[in-house]
Amino acid sequence: MASLSLKNINKIYDNNVQAVFDFNLDVADGEFIVLVGPSGCGKSTTLRMIAGLEDISSGTLIIDGEDVTQKPPKDRDIAMVFQNYALYAHMTIYENMAFSLTLRKEDPNVIHEKVLAAAEILGLTDQLNKKPKQLSGGQRQRVAMGRAIVRTPKVFLFDEPLSNLDAKLRGATRREILLLHKRLGATMLYVTHDQTEALTLADRIVCMSMGYVQQVGTPLELYDTPANLFVASFIGLPPMNFFDCEVEENKLVGTGFNLKLNDSEKELLKYYVGKTITLGVRPENIVKGSDMTLSVNLNENLGQTTLVHGTIGGHKATAKFREWSDYKVGDEVGVSFDRKHFFDKDTTKAIR
Ligand code: ADP
Repeated sequence: MASLSLKNINKIYDNNVQAVFDFNLDVADGEFIVLVGPSGCGKSTTLRMIAGLEDISSGTLIIDGEDVTQKPPKDRDIAMVFQNYALYAHMTIYENMAFSLTLRKEDPNVIHEKVLAAAEILGLTDQLNKKPKQLSGGQRQRVAMGRAIVRTPKVFLFDEPLSNLDAKLRGATRREILLLHKRLGATMLYVTHDQTEALTLADRIVCMSMGYVQQVGTPLELYDTPANLFVASFIGLPPMNFFDCEVEENKLVGTGFNLKLNDSEKELLKYYVGKTITLGVRPENIVKGSDMTLSVNLNENLGQTTLVHGTIGGHKATAKFREWSDYKVGDEVGVSFDRKHFFDKDTTKAIR
């Protein structure tokens, strides 16, 4: 187990593409960190630099107090689980899990103990004599995790480990990874483009866009107090709704609504009077009310909740109601906002 420290890390590829800009992060021993962001934002590059599979162009990587910036992967004591969990087809599950230890010429008795212990944790005890092709996709992914576990590394790295699995298996395997983290208490860094995985797995999320860290915080912090428009729109599904609004002395004026500001909102927005800001409202914060009208385009029942898609003052909006509803196209629903997020339109930063 280990702590990690990434200081001012940059990555410029040979073709002059800068994939990562000034990445800073301290990871505590046993912490589960998820790097999340859209494709191409630099997540894998960051993970691969930690693993030692890519050079660090500038900056420092410290693992357990030791500067490993220039060290080869084998000296970093890190195990990485990839999305295409290439197992050796001709070997049994046991042999696949034992492979790295056999290479290291560890004592066969120790290997046996470690493989059995990892198989037990992962529910693979009955599969050890089988070949990979006899296993399901989910089981094969667990074998890939088993190969990492037997090495008892200081740090586990996961690069989109669930993206080859179907939706149901993804949910189940995600929960297994969470249990695995609790059981091993290991330091884990996990890369995904899926905000649900980030929210459900992470102790802390690092949200990235275009090579830059946008915000680091607990899932609740990112969900409840997003630092900027990017994080606000990336975290949360369906995404937050955004409306341009004029700030007046006592009110907020948008197309199709006119909202009285309370005292704390007035204080928050005092420097924006006369300016346009971006108002963000999560779908569950559009509630039945009388401040404005939601014109319905589509009613989507999800069981206990309903997504009602439509427009407010001509702008697209999605509400999430906590009950089954059956609105028809053209229905007009009276609504209010019960929680608002304000963003500076120029800097895109949250107004706090
Ligand atoms: P993510 O994991 O978030 O999808 P990556 O870290 O894979 O993003 O890529 C970040 C950026 O770096 C992208 O613009 C990608 O095209 C570029 N990139 C990735 N690998 C290489 C490489 N080997 N050579 C040059 N550019 C690369």
